[in-house]
Amino acid sequence: MPYPTEPDRPANEAASRNDCGSCTICCTVMKVKELNKGAHTPCTHCHEGIGCTIYDKRPESCRVYECLWLRSQQFDKPLPANIRPDRCNVVIGTINNGNEVILYVDPSHPEAWRAPAFSEALGLFCSRGIPVHISCHDQITRVF
Ligand code: SF4
Ligand code: SF4
Repeated sequence: MPYPTEPDRPANEAASRNDCGSCTICCTVMKVKELNKGAHTPCTHCHEGIGCTIYDKRPESCRVYECLWLRSQQFDKPLPANIRPDRCNVVIGTINNGNEVILYVDPSHPEAWRAPAFSEALGLFCSRGIPVHISCHDQITRVF
């Protein structure tokens, strides 16, 4: 989960490991069992413009979490800047030992994953035969 927030770098600038930039959406969308925080509930430790205020002491599940968008920034062909989770209201993750994709969708934007910006990524997953699921309101639905 997010490094302390930093200003967004221009989209054409090289990505780095902390390219969460100003994104903190997983701190709302994801469950954190150690904090007894449910899905789609803002974490009380996440402050706008600062990020995680307990960064050095954040729970283990926050330490190990990276969404697929962030992970992809180290790949030869990273997922594009315009589908960074805070820009599209969808956190891209994996399940089943990384073999399937799951899109955690902000319930206030349930159709966000259908945005044109996602077409290329969805096409890529489908062309590789990777199953894609949507998680919204704690309900998981396979869409491809
Ligand atoms: S959703 Fe991804 S990019 Fe955004 S803060 Fe979490 S890990 Fe970083
Ligand atoms: S503890 Fe920090 S990293 Fe974990 S959900 Fe809360 S703000 Fe995010």
